[in-house]
Amino acid sequence: MKVVVIGGGIAGLSLGIFLQKSHIEVVVNERAAGTPGGGHAFLMHTDGLSVLKELVAGTGFKLPGKLVEKFSLKRPDGEEVQRLQLDAWQCIKRSDLTHFLYGLFDGEVKNGREFSHFLYENGKIIAAVFSNGEVEYGDIFVGADGGFSKVRQAVLGEVEFHPGKVKEIVGIAYNEKIAETYAGTFSKFQKNTDGLAFGMIPTSDIELVWFIQYDPSISELEDHSVEGLRLFCKKLLKKFPPIVQQVLDSNDFNKSYLWNTKDFDLLPAFHKDNVVVIGDAAHLALPFTSAGTTNAMVDAKTLAHCLSAASSYTEAFQEFYNLRAEEVLKHVHLGRALRNVFLRPQDQNDDDIPIPLIAGKTKEKDKVMDKPIELLYFTDPICSTCWIMQPLIRKLKLEYGIYLDIKYYMGGMLPSWELYTKGKIQNPGDAAEHWEEACACHDMPMDGDVWIEDPLQSSFPPSIAFKAAQMQDPDKALAFLRRIQEMVFLEKKNIIKWEHLEKAAFENGLDSARLLRDYQGAGKQLFEQDLELAKKMGVTGFPTLFFSDGSGQQVTLKGLQTYEMLEEIIHQMLPLAEKQVIDTDPKNLFCHFPTMTEKEFAVLSNLPKERAAMMLKELYDTGNISQFTSKNGIIYISKFDCIHCL
Ligand SMILES: Cc1cc2nc3c(=O)[nH]c(=O)nc-3n(C[C@H](O)[C@H](O)[C@H](O)COP(=O)(O)OP(=O)(O)OC[C@H]3O[C@@H](n4cnc5c(N)ncnc54)[C@H](O)[C@@H]3O)c2cc1C
Repeated sequence: MKVVVIGGGIAGLSLGIFLQKSHIEVVVNERAAGTPGGGHAFLMHTDGLSVLKELVAGTGFKLPGKLVEKFSLKRPDGEEVQRLQLDAWQCIKRSDLTHFLYGLFDGEVKNGREFSHFLYENGKIIAAVFSNGEVEYGDIFVGADGGFSKVRQAVLGEVEFHPGKVKEIVGIAYNEKIAETYAGTFSKFQKNTDGLAFGMIPTSDIELVWFIQYDPSISELEDHSVEGLRLFCKKLLKKFPPIVQQVLDSNDFNKSYLWNTKDFDLLPAFHKDNVVVIGDAAHLALPFTSAGTTNAMVDAKTLAHCLSAASSYTEAFQEFYNLRAEEVLKHVHLGRALRNVFLRPQDQNDDDIPIPLIAGKTKEKDKVMDKPIELLYFTDPICSTCWIMQPLIRKLKLEYGIYLDIKYYMGGMLPSWELYTKGKIQNPGDAAEHWEEACACHDMPMDGDVWIEDPLQSSFPPSIAFKAAQMQDPDKALAFLRRIQEMVFLEKKNIIKWEHLEKAAFENGLDSARLLRDYQGAGKQLFEQDLELAKKMGVTGFPTLFFSDGSGQQVTLKGLQTYEMLEEIIHQMLPLAEKQVIDTDPKNLFCHFPTMTEKEFAVLSNLPKERAAMMLKELYDTGNISQFTSKNGIIYISKFDCIHCL
């Protein structure tokens, strides 16, 4: 079987590489004379990166692009409305990606071949003819020739393009100072009164890719000359901060261009007879989803797989459509939804502004499975018993998590030292002593010196911050809680201080600008509600665990527990509950829990302490984990690449 690919862009080249891997003969035909260049850059997230990693596996090639670690959204007046750390985002210049793919593709790319039409024999397509008169014969033809695909037009007919109602101007600016200052940050400035935004991301030490998205009803480009475009950009962004002006001033407008966004509805089929279309040729979404490149590569991978697995190309093409149509349709709809939000920012609350790439993915996370047992877990960030229970709670999640819906509440353990009247701990000095003793007994590192060096006066501020974090994302809030526990128990950080709370939020993907708003506002009310509930339910110590199964069975546990006790309650409520087998491969454990103490690792791996310590040392020596050493123990931090994990 010989496959003739038309279009040597992202989709075409990726397909060529995947087909070669499957030992299928392939020829790629590209209109451009050499490697297609093109100015702009892509943002790519996990799905696209994992395809790239698959392409590169075993070749020794380095992935192109720069990691983008932070996202900051500001208003033109400088007010920051979102600030968060990103995970696994990469910014890749289009030309770097195509060069990279050309480098990986061992086969033949025939340049200077602009597709003109097909040659038929007995009603079947047997060859592609190019404008330069050259002809390529083959068995299967793949149109990977972009959104305005001539191949699609030839076999599937005209599509109806829907205007995107938003225009985009893109460019690459050269400014070492700005590239250095903003390295790793996607900065966006967006108006909240009408549809106008400016974004920029450094793509190297000296250059930045930037874009303007605008609603043409605000203003429209009339003079299409290079100088006309420059003046238009300056006029549009006149009220934006000086940094934006500096980027525009460092830009070569000869290489910038205006892009009229458009999309088309999902096609009823991606193929006809022995011709199939992939990438933008098959589906075109508005740019707000930033997913076009990823979709092009996933298409290539899927089609290559279908072709090598199916018994005929008809079956392969049908399977390809079945596998891809639903996903790409989602992007078309999401692109339109995000466009509508962009055009009417005044309808949008600051907290709900969708973040590129992440928008749409969160929806899936919202689907919570119905779990038969509810566990209300009352805790406090500085509760030492809660910290000691961490290994058991983590194990419980892995072994019985499918049955348990755990809900976290803050109990307000330490309003202030004046109001703290429980037990033998009366002041920070007592707390220091207690932590040292508890650490010695239970093997979870705790450094009581924080109570001597920089004592916390209350546990309310970090509790409120946790509630504020929950408003954004319950999972990230838990990671945040874990981080502030590590800060206070191991790093002796006074987690009342906003600087620590902000750092923990940022490190765990929370929007720290929003967290501050909620910390000062609605987070306080949620915390008050938790306190009321705790009072109503008779919570007097921590942790307190309320198990219920929806049929009236309820069990309450107070304070330190054994794992057997927790298991017993689950079996009592759900006799048929089966313990899930934990994959104790350290990589898997660290992908679940990116930081672990020695005790946690031992408990989760079912290993004796000494053996666990040896394994952790090996992992450390081989560079798979790093560590933070505190006075009373170590915390190990994953360096594993977890994209394919879990
Ligand atoms: C301004 C802008 C910003 C974008 N930002 C992002 C982003 O941040 N993230 C993201 O994932 N996606 C982004 N995209 C979308 C992304 O560029 C496309 O989805 C992706 O390039 C699609 O890959 P493709 O291979 O299908 O098409 P293309 O990359 O367009 O490749 C098509 C290839 O076919 C060739 N060709 C065209 N016609 C013919 C012909 N008749 N004969 C032979 N060859 C032909 C072209 O020269 C080209 O090399 C952006 C697009 C634009 C325009």
